[in-house]
Amino acid sequence: MYPNSLQKLIEELKKLPGVGNKSAERFALDILERKDQDIEPLVNALIDVHKNIIQCNVCAHYSQAETCDICSNPHRDHSTICVVASPKDVIAIERSGQYQGVYHVLHGVISTMRGILPSDINVENLIKRCDDSVKEVIVATNPNVEGETTAMYISKRLSDKACDVTRLASGLPMGGLLDYIDDLTLMKAIEGRKKI
Ligand SMILES: [Zn+2]
Repeated sequence: MYPNSLQKLIEELKKLPGVGNKSAERFALDILERKDQDIEPLVNALIDVHKNIIQCNVCAHYSQAETCDICSNPHRDHSTICVVASPKDVIAIERSGQYQGVYHVLHGVISTMRGILPSDINVENLIKRCDDSVKEVIVATNPNVEGETTAMYISKRLSDKACDVTRLASGLPMGGLLDYIDDLTLMKAIEGRKKI
C-alpha cells in the first residue's frame, strides 16, 4: 500500500471514466514526481474549471458567460434548435461546420434501464423555449434505445407546438456515439434529417 495521500490520489483518479487501477497509479506517480512549478498549471486548471464554467442560461451548454457564445451570436439561426444529450455532441456538430442553428443540451437521456426519468434531464426548459419563433427542433440524440426513447418523448411533448420535430438521417451506426462519428457522416445525417 502507498502512503495515505498517494493512495487517496489514486482512488480519486480511479473515479474518472476509463481510468483503471494501473492508469490511476501511473497518473498519480507522474503527478507526484513532477516539480512544484510543473504541477501548478494542473491544480489551477482543476480549480478554474469548477469556478468559471457554468451552464448557459438558454441552452445549458458549458459556458464562461451566463449566455454561451452560440446563443448570444446574432448570426446563428435561432429558429432551429438541435437537441443533444451532452456538451460533447455540441462540439462534434460544431466541428462538422455545417450547422448554423442553436442547441439545447439535455445533460442525459431518458433510460428505463437506468431509471433516468424525463424530470432528471433538461427537457422542461426545451419545451418552454419552443415558442412560435422556433421552426424546427432537430433531435440529435444517439441512435440507440435510450436516444430513440428520448426523441419520441420530446416529439410527443412538442406535438401541440408549431415547430417541426426532426431526427438525424439514418446512416449513423445503430448504437453509435455522435462524438465518434466522422464529420462527413455527421454532416450528411444533419442534411438528410427527417420529420418524426
Ligand atoms: Zn447557450
